Amino acid sequence: MSRFMRQNIVIKSPKEIEQMRLAGAIAARALRCTREAVEPGISTLELDDIAEAVIREAGATPTFLGYSGFPASICASINSEVVHGIPSKKVKLCRGDIFTIDVGATFKGWIGDNADTVPVGETDQRSQELIDVTRKALYAGIEQCVPGKRLGDVSHAIGSVGRAAGMGIIQKYVGHGVGRAMHEDPNIPNEGKAGKGPVLQVGMVLALEPMFTLGTDDVVTRNDGWTVVTTDGSRAAQIEHTVAVTEDGPLILTQE
Ligand code: MG
Repeated sequence: MSRFMRQNIVIKSPKEIEQMRLAGAIAARALRCTREAVEPGISTLELDDIAEAVIREAGATPTFLGYSGFPASICASINSEVVHGIPSKKVKLCRGDIFTIDVGATFKGWIGDNADTVPVGETDQRSQELIDVTRKALYAGIEQCVPGKRLGDVSHAIGSVGRAAGMGIIQKYVGHGVGRAMHEDPNIPNEGKAGKGPVLQVGMVLALEPMFTLGTDDVVTRNDGWTVVTTDGSRAAQIEHTVAVTEDGPLILTQE
């Protein structure tokens, strides 16, 4: 059985992609403003407030707030936390940490989803390498988002960059289609076989989000029911863009 069977992929019109671009630009601005505020001593709740304010000022709503009961506008994940960390006034960033911000904005019913991992001040060389490799993998995946390629080509491109650099690749969480819903088909594993899976078509919109670690491929969810951490305590990075497949190739929607 293929994990690509029974897909319900929603194709967007050029007009709809233009609207998604507006949502994407707001999500990108929220991510940038939050990233710019990252410094030692700031709490993750303060950062959440910044993201929410930017999104609401633009006339959009924070996609994550209330999603399956998630209590905040950003996912705030530090060091060995991979995804879905809950912002808190008790959690303050320390110099040398690496910090992942994941944020979505909904504008006129359309969703933009993006994430970035940044060092708090300066971090150690290996952690910086993790961030750099994760970003490189994301762009390798984006490059494959052209009509006629297959979804497996995207997964393969992402995973190859990660493995070549000796990184762990999270298996349990994956990229996804996005549109009026945050999680649409198809799932996009961060590792896969080239030439397999559905053919990419003009109008598909995909949130690519490599999640790499300095150790294991495996995660466990903390008792808070949300925060996903590496099983071996190794650090993790997650970098994401929402990308449309167009006649002219990949178009990153989460940019200002
Ligand atoms: Mg996502």
